[in-house]
Amino acid sequence: MSEYKVTIIGGGPGGYETAIRLNQYGIECLLIEEERVGGVCLNRGCIPTKALVKSAELYYEMSSASNYGLPSYKPELDYEQVFNRKKCYRRTTGKWNRAYFPKTQYSHFKR
Ligand SMILES: Cc1cc2nc3c(=O)[nH]c(=O)nc-3n(C[C@H](O)[C@H](O)[C@H](O)COP(=O)(O)OP(=O)(O)OC[C@H]3O[C@@H](n4cnc5c(N)ncnc54)[C@H](O)[C@@H]3O)c2cc1C
Repeated sequence: MSEYKVTIIGGGPGGYETAIRLNQYGIECLLIEEERVGGVCLNRGCIPTKALVKSAELYYEMSSASNYGLPSYKPELDYEQVFNRKKCYRRTTGKWNRAYFPKTQYSHFKR
């Protein structure tokens, strides 16, 4: 059975940042996550909501172009594309983060 100096429960920003720091010091650790590494921030909160907010901002700006002396334009909203873009960010950030803690054993544990 493997032994680790540190066990981290929860792979959100708190947990994976701890794993990254421990890895930088060469300390092997075990990270236990019951859902997806990234926690609320990468999977539901910060990153996905910012992707949606950006689409909403652009939609608003394009719709109000005439206020800025530009031709008025009513953009068509493609919900599928908007949500695909959000999913794409989630996949990319997930890969990016795992690359930062090579000395971490990751364990998926469902309560
Ligand atoms: C809509 C929204 C937008 C946000 N936007 C921002 C922003 O722009 N900027 C910002 O700084 N913050 C933002 N936040 C806040 C940010 O998401 C949180 O501060 C951050 O996720 C907290 O990280 P954490 O690691 O403490 O907890 P969490 O992200 O909640 O991670 C905890 C992890 O632990 C796992 N876990 C819990 N219990 C167990 C267990 N017993 N066994 C195994 N695994 C377990 C969970 O599955 C989860 O993955 C936003 C939050 C929301 C909801």
